[in-house]
Amino acid sequence: MTGAWSSDKIRQTFLDFFEAHGHTIVPSASLVPQDDPTLLFTNAGMNQFKDVFLGLGTRPYTRAADTQKCMRVAGKHNDLEDVGRDGSHHTFFEMLGNWSFGDYYKREAIAWAWELLTQVYGLEPDRLWATVFSDDIGDLGLDEEAVHFWQTETSIPHDHILHFGRKDNFWEMGDTGPCGPCSEIHYDRGPEACDKRNVPGHVCRVNGDCDRFIELWNLVFIQYDRHASGELTPLPARHIDTGMGFERLVAVLQGKLSNYRTDLFWPIIEHVQAVAGQSDAEREHHIIAYRVIADHIRAVTFLIGDGVLPANDGRGYVLRMVLRRAVRFGRTLGLTEPFMAELADVVIDRMGHVFPELPTRRAFIKSTILGEERRFLRTLDQGLAKLEEIIAEAKAAGATEISGEQAFFLHDTLGLPLEVTRDVAEEHGLGVDEEGYHAAREAQRARGRASATFEMVADSKSQQYLRLLNKIKEKLPDQPLTYDPYTTMQVKTQVVGVLRDGQIADEARKGDAVELVLQKTCFYVESGGQVSDTGVIEGPDWEVTVTDMRRPTEGLIVHVGHVTWGTLRVGDPVVASVDRERRWDIMRNHTATHLLHRALRQVLGEHVQQAGSVVAPDRLRFDFNHGEPMTPEQRAEVERIVTRAILANYPVEAREEKYRDALKQGVIALFTEKYGDVVRVLRVGEATDPFSQELCGGTHVKRTGDIGPFLILSESGIGAGIRRIEAATGRGALSAIQALRARNEEVAATLNCPLDEIGDRVQRLQEELRQARREAERLARRLARAEFEALLNQVQEINGIPLLVAQVDAPDTDTLREMADWFRAKMKGGVVVLGTVINDRPILIAATTQELVKTRGVHAGQLVRELAKLMGGGGGGRPDMAQAGGRHPDKLTETLQRAPAILQAMLQR
Ligand SMILES: [Zn+2]
Ligand SMILES: [Zn+2]
Repeated sequence: MTGAWSSDKIRQTFLDFFEAHGHTIVPSASLVPQDDPTLLFTNAGMNQFKDVFLGLGTRPYTRAADTQKCMRVAGKHNDLEDVGRDGSHHTFFEMLGNWSFGDYYKREAIAWAWELLTQVYGLEPDRLWATVFSDDIGDLGLDEEAVHFWQTETSIPHDHILHFGRKDNFWEMGDTGPCGPCSEIHYDRGPEACDKRNVPGHVCRVNGDCDRFIELWNLVFIQYDRHASGELTPLPARHIDTGMGFERLVAVLQGKLSNYRTDLFWPIIEHVQAVAGQSDAEREHHIIAYRVIADHIRAVTFLIGDGVLPANDGRGYVLRMVLRRAVRFGRTLGLTEPFMAELADVVIDRMGHVFPELPTRRAFIKSTILGEERRFLRTLDQGLAKLEEIIAEAKAAGATEISGEQAFFLHDTLGLPLEVTRDVAEEHGLGVDEEGYHAAREAQRARGRASATFEMVADSKSQQYLRLLNKIKEKLPDQPLTYDPYTTMQVKTQVVGVLRDGQIADEARKGDAVELVLQKTCFYVESGGQVSDTGVIEGPDWEVTVTDMRRPTEGLIVHVGHVTWGTLRVGDPVVASVDRERRWDIMRNHTATHLLHRALRQVLGEHVQQAGSVVAPDRLRFDFNHGEPMTPEQRAEVERIVTRAILANYPVEAREEKYRDALKQGVIALFTEKYGDVVRVLRVGEATDPFSQELCGGTHVKRTGDIGPFLILSESGIGAGIRRIEAATGRGALSAIQALRARNEEVAATLNCPLDEIGDRVQRLQEELRQARREAERLARRLARAEFEALLNQVQEINGIPLLVAQVDAPDTDTLREMADWFRAKMKGGVVVLGTVINDRPILIAATTQELVKTRGVHAGQLVRELAKLMGGGGGGRPDMAQAGGRHPDKLTETLQRAPAILQAMLQR
């Protein structure tokens, strides 16, 4: 089916070709962009070289080529819902690219692209078309250079060189920065590939709207710098940036109209078909579901392979959506049990030799998928049942769509994503009122915001807060309450609201538990793992100690504490001061958390993702995904990297960025839910070469040198694939080190030796202890033996048979048995009954010889059984050796006294 060109061969041929032309083959960057908080996922091959194009970074090579893992889920061309509906949209895909950083330019880029496509891959020149830039807006004119090289360096028919304007053939990185014209190569799949043949007046053409011509390769010629004024100036160094969609190329070379029919996807589809037990005809009937699953399992496998975990926001949310959508489509194939984890094996087996992170993390990938699948299947059953009801009602009522409120209810209350509702409704020929859905969602948010102005049905506590907020707003309509923990640790302001013992009040006295609202505050309220500030609020003739901060409702921040002296009143002017020392400790730990995160990624790999954190004054806690415990060397290396960053005394700076600007780089709308319109980006290090950049709303030191010493206190596992590090900085690290030293010194003093000889001394002591124990054991045995010999004086005779009955001290039943054996050996015949108390339980053992069992009818088992009854117990065993226990240790002596009589009775039977 795939002919001579397997996808593996196509990829390798591309890389080999450019390597032969002097390119360094670089590995794919992670799907999680490094040092680019504005980018949700790596979405193009050039992402990892952005700094080079911006002139901020360099590489040891000037020519590079690779296949880059990419993920696109937002933007006008890549709505998740489109994926699977045709043969060409994907969430995850590979992008082949070759780059020149100030090295070769248009001539080589065009000539090599042509050579590879026609002479190596063997595509017919007549089916290829090239587009070049011709300015339709400004005065850049025609890219004559490109036209010239197409005409002189290739054998393309000259009428296959087409001119296009800014929309199609001019590439820009952003509003400012490097940009330039591009030249695209399109492939003509022939008239039969046109999906608009029946549309009157349709003409197939390059950059048209049918499936006949497809863009294969985009060659970008970066030659201008766009300034804020809009002016373009030539760049001193000109670059080449190319991208070729791998899946498309494979489809073309394998002669398939749909990417899903290539060997990249078909093995996955066949596997799903086998699991679903469907015929080929059934498969074709449900082909959309197959495509969705085949696309999504690739995305899910690669995302988890790069450390993304299912979550309710950001990247984790995208992963969750994609996985859940696949599971949902699996349902339509009758797959009601988890199937995705097993499917990940097909992807890993297929791609693992190109992307080694997949086989390395196979177990982690599969267990993450399985867990999420199980969670979702539980939710899905409930939500889908309700949706079926809603659909039936809608149909009965003759409606054409599901109302926005209903869709929102399914999402909000039952956890059924809008995407799923939409897909299911569509199968029933119904639409979803999405505007209504978004309106319902907005309304709910607005209710949340405006709730302060309504009487709320809420518990009395939150009602108090809402009333208080209303009261403050009525009194001070034009004075917004402000919160700024970043610029200062002390503010002059006034008390605008008081809760005393949870009730709205006008004043409070010494000893009262209060929650104060100030017009302004610089006290940090717990968020993003960083704990709340504490401190003092001083009034004209009173003082409040603040022990906690809370944000009980949007727009209201309260200082929790108690009045230490005086009487406070609403309206009093105050000075509010954060406990500085404590705050500094917190800030040291918070900045160190960012350094730690970066260092972990350097040491353990870029899959490391923050899974939670606590930033307190005395320590920091950082949870992250990693499959195994860290070695002592890895811990030490992380400490060294963090310490180097501290000693480098990097500047620490936060900048606010318009969320909309971030959007242009592909950050999807989900982020707005969490971060609002402006995101705060925290950078550690110089702007040109940052050590770390993260979205963060916390407070930080000014330079890394402020952090002081850094020390990892512990590293442990807290769940499947999640590790936890506890660490300390500054004063915390010092006290940890001092405590360690004090303990060592204490040990040295106890051992009475110098500090550095502790180890030797302990080893020697252990050896001495071992010898002493062996000696003690030997002596104890000798002692027991001697005591036992003395007991032999107590032997009595019952009908001519020697009987020893004794209560002994034995640490365990083994010793008891051993004593019985000694007796049998010594007496060469006779009966022994020994009793002892072990762990508050009376134990009996009786033994005799085989000879006496046969000739005289002695039975040790019967003997102990009868005796044990007297102590409230039971037991038994062989005729020559038996053991029994009881419940009343105080009856042991009495019981043993009965032994001769019972033996006698036994002999007379
Ligand atoms: Zn057409
Ligand atoms: Zn942070």
